[in-house]
Amino acid sequence: MPEWPEMEHVRRLLMERIGGRRIIGVEIARPQAVNADPDAFERGTVGAVVWYVERRGKHLLFHLDNGKRLLLHLAAGGSLFVGADDEKPERPAQITIRFSEGNLYFLGLRFGYLHLLSVREANERLQELGPDPMDRRLDAKAFAARFAGKRGMLKPALTDQTAVAGIGNCYADEMLHKAGIRPDVPVPLVDAEGWRRLHGAMRSVLEEAAANGGCMGTPLYRGDTQTGRAAALLQVYDREGEPCPKCGGVIVKTELSGRKTFFCPACQTGA
Ligand SMILES: [Zn+2]
Repeated sequence: MPEWPEMEHVRRLLMERIGGRRIIGVEIARPQAVNADPDAFERGTVGAVVWYVERRGKHLLFHLDNGKRLLLHLAAGGSLFVGADDEKPERPAQITIRFSEGNLYFLGLRFGYLHLLSVREANERLQELGPDPMDRRLDAKAFAARFAGKRGMLKPALTDQTAVAGIGNCYADEMLHKAGIRPDVPVPLVDAEGWRRLHGAMRSVLEEAAANGGCMGTPLYRGDTQTGRAAALLQVYDREGEPCPKCGGVIVKTELSGRKTFFCPACQTGA
């Protein structure tokens, strides 16, 4: 499932490739993926220019110059491709947005969606999201305050989108490893120093992964060599039984709140 780095990487590429372009056509092969009937969806989008692509947590928000917004959630299995019909992957697109130059294909949208909204509706839909991990006001102290009063284990708390938006199952494990903190430590046991380390680890892990194209394996355009390189940087996620790159200990897999969790018991100690 794409998280902050994957969606931020996609956002940057989309800004380069479709930013400022006018939508000249829309094709909807899976009506369940949109929130309006296909004709209304077309009327609300065709002729508009995409002037900005914003990321909010794991969502992308396309700003159209007609005052509308397109809210995208890729969810598990979803991906995008920018290019011409003869370049796109073989698998069918659930939605195609055509621009005067190149098209944007939405692939694998089984659980994901693309909703056409007014600005107010978009803000209402996103209002429960917590601050962005890179928000300048979110210093280590403000970060710790987002988890005040939580009683459960730390890892599930980090993936709560209302606390901080954009962290999911993979990067929660990675940032905890970098900070040297066990995923199952109860939130109240994390001290100020622990929050400071975790805050720093959050920012560096997410930024480095985004700069390396995130972990999604599917190319975003023909000749794309950037997307997915961050998979090789993962230190613990999906590396059960492998040596810890930090200390040489053995990475273990466990389950927390029903989600698989990877950590190194040798160097991730307490809080
Ligand atoms: Zn270790």
